[in-house]
Formats: sequence, C-alpha cells, structure tokens
Amino acid sequence: MSRIVYVNGEYLPEEEARVSVFDRGFLMADAVYEVTSVVDGKLLDFAGHAARLERSLNELDMAAPLSADALLEIHRELVRRNGLDEGMIYLQITRGAPPDRDFVFPDPEVTPPTVVLFTQAKALVDSPAAETGIKVISIDDMRWGRRDIKTVQLLYPSMGKMMAKAAGADDAWMVEDGLVTEGTSNNAYIIKDGKIITRHLGNEILHGITRAAALRFARESQFEVEERPFTLEEAKEADEAFVTSASTFVTSVVSIDGVSLGDGAPGPVATRLREIYIEEIRKASI
Ligand code: PMP
Repeated sequence: MSRIVYVNGEYLPEEEARVSVFDRGFLMADAVYEVTSVVDGKLLDFAGHAARLERSLNELDMAAPLSADALLEIHRELVRRNGLDEGMIYLQITRGAPPDRDFVFPDPEVTPPTVVLFTQAKALVDSPAAETGIKVISIDDMRWGRRDIKTVQLLYPSMGKMMAKAAGADDAWMVEDGLVTEGTSNNAYIIKDGKIITRHLGNEILHGITRAAALRFARESQFEVEERPFTLEEAKEADEAFVTSASTFVTSVVSIDGVSLGDGAPGPVATRLREIYIEEIRKASI
C-alpha cells in the first residue's frame, strides 16, 4: 500500500514525492535526521528527538525550518494519514538544493532546506530480536569525528551491518583505541556485577535519546550506572550486554565475536530494563 509522505509542506503519495538531484543531502550527505517511534499511534519521547534535531542543526549552522510544534503536528498528521499503529517516523532535513553543486554552503535566504518525513510500520514491542537477543561482531570505528551530530552519513554503519551479516551476526560494535564506541545504529552497554556500564557522552558517539531515557529509568529503579569507556575484552567478560535505540528500545546482546555472554540468552538486568523502559516511555507518549 502506498504511503503518504511529507515533502516541503505537502502531503503526497510516495510515488509523487520528489527531491532535486542538486539536493545537498543527496550530493554531500549534508543533512540531519531523526527517527521517532510510534506505539499505539502515539509518539515516544518526541521532545527528546526534537531537542536533538535542534542541536544537530545548530552544530551544522543550519537554521531550523520549522518549530518543534509544527514538526509535532506533521508527525501526528502522518500517523493519522497512514493509520500507523506501531513503527517509526523518519525525518530528514537537508541544506536544500542550490542551483549548482558547490562545496560552499548556499545562502539560506536563496536555498531553503529540504524537509522530508515518512512512516515505517514495524512491530517494536514484540520484536523477535528482543526475545532471542542479538549477536554482535567488533569492527574498527572508521567514522568521522563528529558522531554526536545525527547526520545521514551512514555508509560506514551500513557496511558494518553487512560485515556482521557476512559473519553470521546481527550487528557490529565499533572499537576505537581498544574502546567500544557504540553499535552501528545503537548505543552499547555491558553489565558487570549488576552495574550498567556505557561510554560517556562526547563527540565519539551519538547522544542516544533512548540512552538518556533508559539511564534515567535505570537510576530511578536503583540500578547502578557508570558512564565510562570499556574495552572489548571487558565486554566479552561481562555478565550481560545490551543496546538501545529509538526503534529497538533495550535489546540484549548475547554474544560478542562468537563469545557467549552469561548463558547465551537475554539476561535479567537487560530484560528488566526493557520492561521498565517500554512501560515508562509509553506512559509519557503523546
Ligand atoms: N548510535 C548511533 C550511531 C545511531 O545511529 C543510533 C540510532 N540512530 C543510536 C546510537 C541510538 O540513538 P537513539 O536512541 O536516539 O535512537
């Protein structure tokens, strides 16, 4: 069934939606994005995603083309028009389509940003990966130095997923200077003696919206949390591990480079945190 998507102020059937070949998102990955999950037709942590979007735009000297309220209305309208019950809304803002290809940023007065949003239906709460846990491999982190900005430069993460697939795994954890940064599309955590350990915020990782909420809920539920880098060796000796992202919530990692963690099934801490996360984030959905 054809979706209704949003492009620059219009709601259109996906077949009719168009973006210029000169668009800097297409030519230069000069674009930022957000993915907000929908459960029971309601948005999870929209405020968090709107705030990070504003930060990403600021870091790239791009003006916000729409207010957070206007963006919320577009998200809701897409949910309505597509009858979306569970899944995600993808939003992308590019620096627009200047008359010619040029490395220099175009004048925003002349070249307005391109704004695209579309829906993706998917079962998120009852996901097969959450039942079994996922297997990860480790790969070198070869991305650029501003991973805190949520840009559409996703080629290396995409290659990482393919490397994982080729190795019979589900995903890859990236390693820099011996330390785990994050997963290809999620933040990475280990659990040792009941303590949840995850890399501290910085330019090296994306500041996950799910990470922020999950750590808040974990602390409120009296789990011990430590934000610091951890090595791959430490991860392989952990009791449990998990990842977080807007669409996977909290998902257990059951093996790293073929080394099973615990008994090779989702562990108690990650399982409990997933339950708490889903319960709390749904309560606050809008
Ligand atoms: N790290 C990376 C590299 C990601 O691509 C993502 C998801 N886009 C995340 C972490 C998780 O972020 P969030 O919880 O905001 O989805």
